Amino acid sequence: MEIKLTKNTSPSLKPDPDKLGFGKLFTDHMFICDYSTSKGWHNARVEPFRNLSLSPACAVFHYAQAMFEGLKAYKTKDGRVLLFRPDKNIERLNNTNERMCIPKIDPGFALEAIKTIVRVDCGWIPSAPGTSLYIRPFIIATDPFLGVHPSHNYMFIIILSPSGNYYAAGLDPVKIVVEDEYVRAVRGGTGYAKVGGNYAASLIGQKKAEENGYAQVLWLDGIHHKYIDEVGAMNVFFKIDGEIITPALEGSILPGVTRRSVIELLTGKGYKVTERRISIDEVYAAASDGRLDEMFGTGTAAVISPVGELAWGGKKMKINDFKIGPIASFLYKELTDIQWGRVDDVNGWTVEVCCNP
Ligand SMILES: *Cc1c(COP(=O)(O)O)cnc(C)c1O
Repeated sequence: MEIKLTKNTSPSLKPDPDKLGFGKLFTDHMFICDYSTSKGWHNARVEPFRNLSLSPACAVFHYAQAMFEGLKAYKTKDGRVLLFRPDKNIERLNNTNERMCIPKIDPGFALEAIKTIVRVDCGWIPSAPGTSLYIRPFIIATDPFLGVHPSHNYMFIIILSPSGNYYAAGLDPVKIVVEDEYVRAVRGGTGYAKVGGNYAASLIGQKKAEENGYAQVLWLDGIHHKYIDEVGAMNVFFKIDGEIITPALEGSILPGVTRRSVIELLTGKGYKVTERRISIDEVYAAASDGRLDEMFGTGTAAVISPVGELAWGGKKMKINDFKIGPIASFLYKELTDIQWGRVDDVNGWTVEVCCNP
């Protein structure tokens, strides 16, 4: 499918690279593609970034038929632009679509759409250390109809947001609290799909955690309130007795691209990584007798987020003396070196976007 380009004739000034933050600023253009039952995906175009005009009856506003993805474009020292495993995001996009009854998108076309919008707004990719261009593809159901039914019309949109260095102040461990009242997702539900509804359901737990002085929530499974699912909106890893453990993908956990990459990097280094159920009791027992060496979250935004303290009920577990452990440090360096093109990409994980053909 051809992608039509309409240039923004009044481009914005580029922001101060020290004040980017996350998700506040947007580039000059956006990608849009429409879907209708009769035409399929059609009318792919890049347009100036603008507000949308939609009927207030649109399905997305009422029944949350929508999905999103998140990945980044990184500028290397020698000026190349790299995407990190975009094929994995696109595969997940279609798995989410299937769960949400949204029509699938041809993977080759989805990659072309991402590359095209990044190429058009290449000048917006910041180059200061740790900065990147966050890419947010999403799909919304646009039927102006209040009946509960999969929509017949959709919009696939990609917006771009220059984002700051997540660890401008250094890779600091965070304090986490176990949430034992609310759950984020449940097997059979939409936990494995990247959808806004999961986030809406998690806000109350996040709010509670922040009010009590914690950065994030450790989510337990929705059936037993016992097995660990995720930490905030990140996947989670533990190192206990030399074994690296991450919860198995059983439907309630989002299959992170960073999670998969961490498993592959560690396995390649000869570590034993086990994907299995891990209960909060097991973590507490390990922490109590000094066998919990490390705990960290993984995700595109932070890459690796070490956990220094875990609170559960009245109990507090200090992890690795509130310092970053060797596994977390190794992974952070290894992943960011690949993403910013500082080492040879022996795994073939990066995809270059040619901005100056
Ligand atoms: C996106 C997301 C992750 C992390 O996935 P990455 O592909 O590694 O960025 C983890 N958990 C949730 C709930 C997410 O939405």
